[in-house]
Amino acid sequence: MKLGTKSCADRRRGELFLWNALTIVVAYGSPDRIASRLDRANQEFEVLRHWEASAAWNASIQINIWNQNELKQVQNEKELWKLHTCTDLEHIVEHLSTNISRDQSRQISLFCRGPKYTPELSRAFEEVQQELYRIYHTSLVCYGDFCEHGEPELARRMEQSRDPQFLLTIWHAWRHRVGPKGKPLYRDMVQIMNQAARRNGYDNVGAAWKEVHDLPKIENEVKRLYDEILPFYQRLHAWVRFRLSKFYGEDLIERLRPLPAHLLGNMWAQSWEAIADLIVPEDLLGSNQDFTLEDVLAISNLSVVDMAKSAEEYFVSMGFQPMTSSFWRYSQLEKPVDPGFPTSCHPSSLDLYNGDDFRIELCGQQTWDTFLTLHHEMGHIQYYMNYHHQPPIFRDGANPSFHESIGDCINYGIQSPAFLKRFGLKSKLEPNVMIGHLLKQALSRIPLIVWSYVVDQWRWDVFSEKVPFTEWNDHWWDLREQIQGVQSPLPRHPDSFDPMAKFHIPDNSPYIPYFFAGFLQVQLYERLCQVEHGSTIDVHQCDLWGAKRAGHVLRSLMSAGQSQPWKRVLMDNLGMASISAQPLLRYYDPLIRWLDEMIERESIPIGW
Ligand SMILES: [Zn+2]
Repeated sequence: MKLGTKSCADRRRGELFLWNALTIVVAYGSPDRIASRLDRANQEFEVLRHWEASAAWNASIQINIWNQNELKQVQNEKELWKLHTCTDLEHIVEHLSTNISRDQSRQISLFCRGPKYTPELSRAFEEVQQELYRIYHTSLVCYGDFCEHGEPELARRMEQSRDPQFLLTIWHAWRHRVGPKGKPLYRDMVQIMNQAARRNGYDNVGAAWKEVHDLPKIENEVKRLYDEILPFYQRLHAWVRFRLSKFYGEDLIERLRPLPAHLLGNMWAQSWEAIADLIVPEDLLGSNQDFTLEDVLAISNLSVVDMAKSAEEYFVSMGFQPMTSSFWRYSQLEKPVDPGFPTSCHPSSLDLYNGDDFRIELCGQQTWDTFLTLHHEMGHIQYYMNYHHQPPIFRDGANPSFHESIGDCINYGIQSPAFLKRFGLKSKLEPNVMIGHLLKQALSRIPLIVWSYVVDQWRWDVFSEKVPFTEWNDHWWDLREQIQGVQSPLPRHPDSFDPMAKFHIPDNSPYIPYFFAGFLQVQLYERLCQVEHGSTIDVHQCDLWGAKRAGHVLRSLMSAGQSQPWKRVLMDNLGMASISAQPLLRYYDPLIRWLDEMIERESIPIGW
């Protein structure tokens, strides 16, 4: 994910400029006036975003009251500034005698959309949101001889343990620790956001969140894409249930029932890759895959910094710029040993809006997952670097899904046998081993798409106030069962608030970008492979290492930022009109056919 800003000197400079911004009197009526007012808004926006990013970085690296207060203050001042600047811009436009340019209109519309916070609403929002953030990152679960945070320690235990009782204990304890404390705060936050959204003409804050995707009927679009991959997901789900029932027994894994959420190798059941050892049959492993990718990394003796260098080399091989010296100086790639204060371990990237300072925060370990996460986060950094020449208002992804797709598109290349031969694996896998390889990839990527749908459908329903507060948690589990085929392993208590156990809920970051990114990343990968290697390339054998032509196309798409509607960016650079499930279904087609065979041969029931 990407974080949305540092020193006392910067802060003083910001305060001074802000005061000036509010006291300058603007003359209306001239077309030049709007151009100069927009220029000033962009300059001020850049300073404020730098200031905010610095404070966000400090509050994430070292979670304490001082840093949190600093961030709250910056964000309050930014909201106040935005309110005044938008009012100013809108007044100028009203009094203009000629039309403004399409570019100016787009800048004003992007800048002035979203909830409109009054100073009181902004203060109330920052208060409650920072408290939710603090609860998520500082809460500890104590069990036996350990006391640990949710990320990365407890999450790691959920991946590694195969003891159902222990998994159930950890799964429940984390939710019990953060849920009831977060529930009333989250209700307050929703009310505040809705008030601010209504002040800018939205029915509720969900409508404002949906607007940034520039899809008139986003819920229909999400449902359409979900329906297209549902037959594949149902088959994958059926196979996983079949294999888990062999391992855990039918008492725990029941026929034609949703999967219990604590046995899928992940705290949130959003990726099932960690249980690949239980799911991928031995005959799909092959002799050359007797060692796992994690072993390969250990044999190669790559440290986390080495892995980050390797990710940088990959992008550079495609013609991208290397990371800046500030990146290597300030990024925190591993959890500090005994730092003496709480720190966020949720992987994130940050643009400090000065053209040189871009950072990653990660509690990386010597694992394959860290290797892929580094490429994902570096995809965000490359995006920041490539649209930096744009006016600050345009410095963002064509839409949020684009930002989440770049690194994961590259990760498809990283997982190709053509690339993995660099680590001593075969460059061309036997067909059965290729199926095993695709099955592992599917376990990591397909459940995430479906889970993303659940997370934001739940928030849209909560924001619209169609679900009463007392039913929030039940609605969460209804959606998880219905959409994802996953159920709670325990009856839930009336005080339970299980969404709180997931970072993006207390952090208040939209999740539907990951849904669309699940499709867009394969779409980008397939097209970039064709651009580089021709239309007949087998995507399973396509590596983008050194792919200069593909790199050129990708950089062109990224350098547009959000200066154009996303559909135009997609069409101009890749000749595509919309987000499609077809490239994903084509990529996994050999696996889908194999799943059909297995389901028939073993008479495995489908559905839940
Ligand atoms: Zn991301």
